[in-house]
Amino acid sequence: MFENDKPFERIRYATEESGSVGRITLARPERHNAQDFLMLHEIDRAFALAAQDDAVRVVILDAEGPNFSSGHDISGAPMEVVNFCVHHVGGFDQPGVLGHMSAEEEYYIGMCWRWRNFPKPTIAQVQGKVIAGGLMLVWPMDLIIASQDATFSDPTVAFGVNGHEYFVHAWELGHRKAKEILFRSSAITAEECRELGMVNHVVPNEDLHAFTLGIAKEIAERPVMGTKLAKMAVNQSLDAQGQWNAIQSAFGLHHVGHANARVMFDGVPVDPTGIEVIKRLSKA
Ligand code: ZN
Repeated sequence: MFENDKPFERIRYATEESGSVGRITLARPERHNAQDFLMLHEIDRAFALAAQDDAVRVVILDAEGPNFSSGHDISGAPMEVVNFCVHHVGGFDQPGVLGHMSAEEEYYIGMCWRWRNFPKPTIAQVQGKVIAGGLMLVWPMDLIIASQDATFSDPTVAFGVNGHEYFVHAWELGHRKAKEILFRSSAITAEECRELGMVNHVVPNEDLHAFTLGIAKEIAERPVMGTKLAKMAVNQSLDAQGQWNAIQSAFGLHHVGHANARVMFDGVPVDPTGIEVIKRLSKA
């Protein structure tokens, strides 16, 4: 089924500043913006709208409520797989590892990589907790502006996997800090992330919106050609260092973890005790 014309349920998309700034807002605050496949699909659709609107020169990704995103929806409800038929993907309902891997290829690393290579500058505007899959919305953006209360973590080792699927941890945090937060399931503060180079600016919560919009307006005044080429040049530097190959390699290890859990836990793709660990950490 084609889903392209349905109204958004999990997000909002609007333009501001005479159409030059696109704003995608995660709009599921009652669930701390937990991501189901529908939300990811809608974010991807909104990015497509922003890409195709020539008036839009920069995109802000922000979130309603006290927390940016608690990650993938692990409430136990079956994830609705939405077939966004623009892309040549499928097989999500296949049994065994095949369907699971196919869905994660598209909804996790596939979408993240498209957003990372979005042809215009992007800014994540982040408050509160960002947990596991929440990082998959933040890290693909070009700039990250965080409020003082923002914290970042990836406790998915509790699931018996290496980390969440968009595995750029060592690139974002440096390899030693990446190992520590993965091993310890610990959260790092916005200020620490700024010192590590992961976050561009940390501002008081009440200034987050205005500060981020100010930077977006500044970027929107630059020539589109210049910002496009600058983004491509920096991304290509990361490509030259093997970033995409590293992500795919880690994705293979991630599915060794999922497959191991299926063997150990009677077909369940993650260590079921990990869900309780992550729920506890999410509340802390
Ligand atoms: Zn996975």
